Formats: sequence, C-alpha cells, structure tokens
Amino acid sequence: MAYQLSEKLKKMVSYEPISGDYAIRLDANESFLPVDEEIKAEFTQKLSEIPFNRYPDPLAAEVCRKFADYYGINADFVTAGNGSDELISVIIGAFLSEGDKLLTVMPDFSMYGFYADLTGVTVLTQEKDENLNIDVDAVIQTVQREKVNCVMFSNPCNPTGQGLPREEVRRLITSVDCLVVLDEAYMDFYTESLLTEAEQYDNLIILRTCSKALGLAAVRLGFAVANPTLTTVLRAAKSPYNVNSVTQAYGSVVLSHKEKEQAALAQILASREELYGALVGMQEKYHCFERVYPTVTNFVLVETSRAKELLRN
Ligand SMILES: *Cc1c(COP(=O)(O)O)cnc(C)c1O
Repeated sequence: MAYQLSEKLKKMVSYEPISGDYAIRLDANESFLPVDEEIKAEFTQKLSEIPFNRYPDPLAAEVCRKFADYYGINADFVTAGNGSDELISVIIGAFLSEGDKLLTVMPDFSMYGFYADLTGVTVLTQEKDENLNIDVDAVIQTVQREKVNCVMFSNPCNPTGQGLPREEVRRLITSVDCLVVLDEAYMDFYTESLLTEAEQYDNLIILRTCSKALGLAAVRLGFAVANPTLTTVLRAAKSPYNVNSVTQAYGSVVLSHKEKEQAALAQILASREELYGALVGMQEKYHCFERVYPTVTNFVLVETSRAKELLRN
C-alpha cells in the first residue's frame, strides 16, 4: 500500500508572489523606505548580544512591551506572531474545528479562506456593496442565520483600500455572539482602530503587522491583541518559539523609535496621495481605467479591463 494524498491536498499549490525585475513594486503593499541608519546601528549592536545557542523568549516579552507602549495599550493583551499571517493560522486552528463556519466578506485578504480550507472549516462568503464597503447589517444577519462561528475581515481592507468607521465595527462586534477577528494590518494609515478597547470585548481579536507601515516585511512580525481569556488561548496554541530572537531584537528597536516611524508614515501617506492624484489625473484625461477607488491605506485600487497589459508594460 502506498501513501496517497487526499483530494484536497492534491490540489494545493504554493503561494507565488509576482516575481521579475520591476523598477517599482506596488503589489505587496510593502514600505518603499530604506532602513534608518540609527535604527540599523542600534539593531547591529543588539544583534551582537543575542545568545544564538539559546531558544528565543517564547512570549517575546520585550517586543510585546514595545508594541504595547507604541500604541498605548497593556502588554498583557498582546501575543506576538511570525507575521500576522501565522496568527491567522493559529487562530483558525485553535478557535475553530472541522465543520465550523468562517464568514469572510469579499473581496478581502485571501489567507483567511486559505487557512480555513486547510483546517476543514467551512468558508462562507458574503459580497461587499457596489462601493466595496461592508454591509454590517447583512453580516450580522448571515452570522445569526447560518450560525457562523467566526467572522474575519480586514479594516482597512486589502485589496479594496476602503475603511469601515469605528462605530460600525463596534456595532458588528457587539451584535454577534461569535468570534470576530479584526485584521488591522493597514490601520496605521487610517484612524479608526479599536486597539485601545480590544480587551473590553469577549469576542474580539485584533491583528496588527509590522510589515506595512513599519516597513519590516522581511523580519516577519505581527501581533494579536485581545482580552486575557482569549490571549491565554493564543499564547497556549502558538508554537512555543514562533518569533525568533533576531526578529524580536529588530522589532524592539524599531518600535522604540515612534518619532522616526511617524515621520516615515507621513512620507508614505504623501507618496500615496501623489500616486492617487496621478491615477485620478490619468483617468480624467485619458479615461484609461474603469474606476480609481479612494483609499485609506498605502495602496490604491484601480479597476481596469487592461490589468494584464499594464502588468506587462
Ligand atoms: C499583509 C497583510 C497581512 C500579513 O501580514 P504579515 O504580518 O506580513 O504576515 C495580514 N493581513 C492583511 C490584510 C495584509 O494585507
């Protein structure tokens, strides 16, 4: 008897980001800014002090404290992950079982459905409205009607660039009994975070990442913020040494430089405005796109029937 992959596994393909030599890369929503020299020097010093023969701190206490200080919250509510991507997978694995239902509101970040599928969780999808906004009432109704176990969505949203006001997010969280995972990967670019009130909800986990506004996509560092009960589960469910010592060190240095990071953020926002203005200008002059969406993130969504052509050129 030979080992056989299940039908589900036979269909799997690895994640392939766009590769090739492009002068400008806009597809992964990374920061375009180089590392600050002072941060680089401080990190190099810290790197030389890492005991490389030892396992990392399993709770990543220092970097969690720095993250908490940066955003003005309590470190007791913070769990670090190997990118927020890992935390999505940990949350689905820990809080959902085979046959449970996850609701996503499309279009949204593809990894929610991916990890759910892998775990045998049923993925229900609901469409956004014509302006690509979430219809909160429709989500609440679906959760109740379908007995959904978890709603997961990004705010602001990747790939739409749209944001849901805080009051609407609060209404969603308090109107459902299920777990709500609020992915705030781009919240540094918007002003409607629930981070400082996360622990007040019994059903909320907020995800943040250092990959976008903070420019640390290479080091893989993300955080989950939730009340102590949910945090206990997250810390117990993650693999013990999920965040390596180099990442913990680099994250601690970067998160200690709020002023520098705020200046970088202002630069990214100015650049986003420039890009958005130029795209809108092109649209007005040449009618070359179907639609340029307004944005509260570091990227701009453009609807065009010529996407393949544009990518090639
Ligand atoms: C980029 C992104 C992430 C992943 O962040 P990492 O911390 O780099 O894993 C999560 N959610 C959304 C919506 C993203 O766009």
